[in-house]
Order: sequence, then structure tokens, then C-alpha cells
Amino acid sequence: MSSNPPAPVSNFIRSIIDADLASGKHASIATRFPPEPNGYLHIGHAKSICLNFGLAQDYQGTCNLRFDDTNPEKESEEYAQSIQDDVRWLGFEWNGQVRWASDYFEALYGFAVELINKGLAYVDDLTPEQMRQYRGTLTQPGQNSPNRDRTVAENLDLFARMKAGEFADGAMVLRAKIDMASPNINLRDPVIYRIRRAHHIRTGDQWCIYPMYDYTHCISDALEGITHSICTLEFEDHRPLYDWVLDNITIPCHPRQYEFSRLELHYTITSKRKLLQLVNEKKVNGWDDPRMPTISGMRRRGYTPEGLREFAKRIGVSKSENIVDMAVLESAVRDDLEARAPRVMAIINPLKVTITNADGALTREADFHPNHPEFGKREVLFGETLFIEADDFSEVPPPGWKRLTPGGEVRLRHSYVMRCDEVVKDAAGAVIELKCSIDHNTLGKNPEGRKVKGVIHFLSCKHALPAEIRLYDRLFNVPEPDADREVDFCTHLNPASLTVVQGWVEACVQDAAPETRYQFERLGYFCIDRRDHQPGKPVFNRTVTLKDSWAREQG
Ligand code: ATP
Ligand code: MG
Repeated sequence: MSSNPPAPVSNFIRSIIDADLASGKHASIATRFPPEPNGYLHIGHAKSICLNFGLAQDYQGTCNLRFDDTNPEKESEEYAQSIQDDVRWLGFEWNGQVRWASDYFEALYGFAVELINKGLAYVDDLTPEQMRQYRGTLTQPGQNSPNRDRTVAENLDLFARMKAGEFADGAMVLRAKIDMASPNINLRDPVIYRIRRAHHIRTGDQWCIYPMYDYTHCISDALEGITHSICTLEFEDHRPLYDWVLDNITIPCHPRQYEFSRLELHYTITSKRKLLQLVNEKKVNGWDDPRMPTISGMRRRGYTPEGLREFAKRIGVSKSENIVDMAVLESAVRDDLEARAPRVMAIINPLKVTITNADGALTREADFHPNHPEFGKREVLFGETLFIEADDFSEVPPPGWKRLTPGGEVRLRHSYVMRCDEVVKDAAGAVIELKCSIDHNTLGKNPEGRKVKGVIHFLSCKHALPAEIRLYDRLFNVPEPDADREVDFCTHLNPASLTVVQGWVEACVQDAAPETRYQFERLGYFCIDRRDHQPGKPVFNRTVTLKDSWAREQG
């Protein structure tokens, strides 16, 4: 058998690249991932990262990481650092140094002067309100600003004075001179520079004018020799502007922009602005709250980079609008964890069991994973008192019940067959303890003369390690929380998205490092919290359940 990984699934972008390489248009490809450092990255960005870095890997090209840092008020070093951490954690490395659009501020200024000299840009001091009126609407063409015909000399002078800080914030802008009657509003003399006295994370107070995104992005791509500039569909209408700028300045490279559809996920949101609102309003415990669809949140929850990359592969790349079901993400993560996570037992809702004939009971070694002997073994300890999961006992079982009932037998995982002889209740009639006996002749073998179908997990009380276990449900209780603009999406937050329980786990996990992942048999995949875990006081996050509990609920 060949050990080569399967060939990547093709998509329209790969077809374009294949054609460009075949025709000799490009000898190799160069992509980039261009986040704005104004928040933490989310699952949508993960898709874009996997696409851009993945293409570079598959075609032996390069992918740059470039911060689009043109909005100083909203950007921070913390965000920039978290983005680099996230890209690396996902398993990618960028080409050379991290790039910043601000590295190009001087060059961008020079190109703006070139546009002015060519009569293709002008300084406008209309008020924002007037600017709106002149712009027209989707059905009405715009009108030329009275400032559109300023002379080149006048524009050069005003633009230099904008840069020199002679004018107040917002007093004037530099606009590209394109076409106020264009059916595409992006071409109606878009603003390319504005005055903003804000401290910038890289350039400090050096600049008081900042280039706009559309103007900056295409030039940054060209300066870096990007071949395929891949972005999401909302930029499709901006492409003519991307091309106009590059066609009208002296620059030897003209990257091509291609758009694909954004990833959206049911029961969550993929907008940095809204995620920031959740953080600021303390609806969640920070950007890396395990309920957040941020990369750092998913990491903390226990998702693996491999699982996220597999998810990106499964959803593919296209131009059609699509909202992906959370189940697709969860099953990609689950499939990855299946083979990766050692298996141990834990109890999240304990019911005490007293074994009346425990004398002489033995422990047994068990593999950490049925298919991976290399994960090793541990002793599954037994004792006079056990914890079982309260749900695994029923006094009046429903039809088909295979777990414990009064007088019934079950197999304790990796241990004996146990019979429930007596049910102990409190004054209110609630079950508080079971008295059970084991068949000493069933350790590692079937009982004689009868079949025992059910298998339940358990822990020896004496040996179990107490643990805080955090169980997560979807963050919102409707599939599209931000669909209705009239309603604040926060009203759809699921109040039961986090449940914290004090449970128990096998003592063998005691010294595991933060971020170690386990399958707790029958309960799901769990990960040691990287933030709150302390030695001897484990904190586990449930990453995902073993089966698709959502699909089960629906049908
Ligand atoms: P948001 O709307 O969440 O603020 P953004 O597009 O403004 O996202 P950027 O930092 O500009 O955030 O995004 C960096 C890159 O990630 C861009 O190329 C963008 O197209 C891509 N991207 C952002 N959101 C998604 C998404 N939901 N699906 C796929 N790609 C995305
Ligand atoms: Mg953006």
C-alpha cells in the first residue's frame, strides 16, 4: 500500500491554479492570509487559513501572513499575537517574516501621489452627509463632487498638508477619480485616504492619514508578488476597484482576486464584531471561552488542528452560499480524536455502590486504546465502594434497557459482572446507594450459564480522583442567531450552554499536562483545560460527545 496522502479534492480555485501553471502564466503560486488584528480568529478564518496555506503547501508555493493594520483604533498587539499563535497551532508556517500593511505606508503614499499626478485622485472636503448625497443609490447614479476638478497642483498641496497634520480628523479625504455614474457603487470615486489621529500599534503617531482597505489590499498583494488573492464573496463587487488601482499605478505585478463563499455555522456566529460584543458584555469568559467559535476557544475545548483541517477539507470551497451544520464540524473532530485519545473512565453524576462481597476482588490491566497497544496500559482499580453513573441505574427501566436494574446484572467495564441486590433510598424516596455483589468468576471471562448484555463504566471510590468537569452545549438556541437585524443576537444565547459538575476520574490521569485529551468511556472526548488546570486539581472540558447528540435530538 502506498503511504501517500490522498490527493486533495479539487475546487474551482485549484482549477484556476492548475490552468495558470499549465499555461506558464505563473511558475509557482503565492497566496496570503490577510487578517485585520482587531479580534481573535474564528472558524471562518480557519477555513481561509486552510485554503491559503493549504494551497501553498500542495503546490509548493508560498503563503504570507499579512496584517491588514489600517484601522488603528480597533487594532492591538494582543490580537496580532493571538492570530500568529492560531495560525501556527493550526499547523501552518508563513513565508518569511510576518508582513504588515503598515510596512507599505510610505509606498502607498507614493502611489497616491502618482494617482494625483495622473489626474486620477483628488482631495475632497465635502461633509460626510454631503458625500452620501452625492454618492447616489443603488438605483440612482451619483453626482460629481464640486471638488472633483481641483487642479493637480492643488490636490498635491492639500494631500501633503493632510499628511502634515494641518487638517482636523474627517475634514477631508483623498478620493480616486473613477466614475460617479458607475452602477457599481464601489467605483463612485471611493475614498482612498482619510485623516485619523489615532495611535497605531506599529507606526505610533507617525501618520495621521491612513489608507483605506480596498486601496491598501491590492497594492500590498502586488508588492508581495501574490499570484492568487483569495477572499470571501462580499469582495466580489470590490474586484473592479482592486483592478483599477493596480492598472493605474506603476507596479510590475497584478495579482488576480478570486472570491469564495464565507463559512457560516449553525448555532453560532462568525463575525469578529459580534464575538467582541460577547466578550465585552461578559456573555462568555473571554475570547478563548470553549463555547466560542474562535480558534483559541476551540483549541481550549479540545478540538485538534487535524480535526479542524479535516473539517475544512470536508466543507470544500465554492461560491455558493452555505451554512454548515455544527454536526459536520463535530464529526470531523470526533473522527480525529477517535484514534488519538487514550480511553479512561470518569463519572459525572455519581451513584454510590457498595460491593457486599468485595473480599478477594482483583484489579485488572486494561489498554488505553483498543487499537493502539502503544498507548500503554493501566491498572483498573477495584474497591469496596464504587461510583457508577446515576443514569446507568433504573428502578423501572424502559423497554430495551441494558443497564442496571434491581436484581439485574451488568458487566463493569474491564472488571466483574455485578448484580444489584438492594436499593437504598433517602427519606424522600430518592435512590442514594445500591448494594451489589460481584461474580468472582467473571474477571476477564463470560459468566457461566447466562448472558450479560450491558456494560457500564465505574470507578473505585477510594482510588478515584475528583475533577471539575465542564459540559458544553451550543452557545445559541436558534440556528441563525444573527439572521434578524431587528433582534439583538444576544437574546438567543443558550442559558444552559455551560454546566459545571464535580465528577471523578481514574487516578492515572493525575499528572497529565494541560491540553491532554482523553475519551471518557461512554461520555465523550475531554481535554484538560489549559487555563484553569492546576496540578492535582484537574479541570476537564468536554470537547464533543461520542455520538452526534444533535442529530439524535432531531430524529
Ligand atoms: P469578520 O467579518 O469576522 O470581522 P473579516 O473578514 O473582517 O471577518 P479579516 O481579519 O479581514 O476578518 O479576515 C481575514 C481573512 O479571513 C479574509 O481573507 C477573509 O475573507 C477571511 N474570512 C473572514 N471570515 C471568513 C468566513 N466566515 N469564512 C471564510 N473566510 C473568512
Ligand atoms: Mg475584513
